[in-house]
Amino acid sequence: MEAKAEKLVIIGSGPAGLTAAIYGCRADLDPLVFMGTKYGGQLMLTSEVENFPGFPDPVLGPDLISRMKSQAERLGARLVQEDVVKVNFKTYPLEVYTGSGVTRALSVIIATGANPRRLNLPSEMKLMGKGVSNCAVCDAFFFRGKKVAVVGGGDTALEEATFLTKFATSVQVIHRRDELRANAALKKEALSNPKVSFVWDSAVTEVLGDGKVSGVKVRNLKTGKEGDIQLDGVFVAIGYDPNTEIFRGQVELDQKGYVALHNGTESSVPGVFVAGDVHDFRYRQAITAAADGCKALLDAEKFVKQKLEAPLAN
Ligand code: NAP
Repeated sequence: MEAKAEKLVIIGSGPAGLTAAIYGCRADLDPLVFMGTKYGGQLMLTSEVENFPGFPDPVLGPDLISRMKSQAERLGARLVQEDVVKVNFKTYPLEVYTGSGVTRALSVIIATGANPRRLNLPSEMKLMGKGVSNCAVCDAFFFRGKKVAVVGGGDTALEEATFLTKFATSVQVIHRRDELRANAALKKEALSNPKVSFVWDSAVTEVLGDGKVSGVKVRNLKTGKEGDIQLDGVFVAIGYDPNTEIFRGQVELDQKGYVALHNGTESSVPGVFVAGDVHDFRYRQAITAAADGCKALLDAEKFVKQKLEAPLAN
């Protein structure tokens, strides 16, 4: 006999997934959360978080996740540290596969997040959180009166560069071409800001520093010339990759690979809802992901209620 379908399966365990789990318990949906083997998402790589309401003192990213996890567990969420390897949303109940087998579900919330692209330098990873950051909104505050660089030439890079000028004394944008990809308004704003300067046609080949960032090594891609720039911080803003590989062909994705939203938090598949950075390339904050988790849950709750009240009609 087939196992009874779960009312709600949540895939992902960043602020979006864990908030959905917290609200899911309170809505009596008995959520089963596949957290992933590397749970917690981007906050696990963040040092101090100073902008999450309710924490007058800074909280470390991993501690914030740990608190959300404890809260979800206390309320009764079942948190499983397994990766989802496959889904089948072409059948109903929906099917979610992990290494231990298949779980059938009346509703699923996709909250698998996105990963900031890396320069793929060992020194970048070594100094992550020690002067290397992927989020100016989160970390700019720590660079008051300091010199920083932003790597990239897209909307995010220029938005971050302009934001950083509120704190840093100088912001150098290091871009691999001599033309910016960013939209006209962001370009104009950054180009006219006296604190922002540009290092064109250049790639960062190493982040310098022992324990904390002291600069970067850059190579001019046209001339091949190498040189060091002294800095206190480096913001890598070269785009994001949404974690949607397992959903390809199962739910509609947009051109950039993010899950497309239809009505509220609905995906293209009835019963499959979406929360956090896996659809949101614009705001990308822990608090907006958490809010999204709440919204997705409220939509899932309505959907499941209808299914349970009218099982014969389906
Ligand atoms: P993006 O548009 O993909 O731009 C990435 C930038 O990083 C590009 O300039 C790219 O250079 C550079 N880059 C990529 N890989 C690199 C590497 N390995 N080394 C060095 N440089 C590299 O990413 P994004 O700026 O994060 O924006 C993502 C999406 O979000 C876009 O659609 C954007 O419009 C949207 N967004 C909108 C807003 C807003 O509306 N306010 C704000 C942020 C983001 P090339 O130019 O040479 O390819």
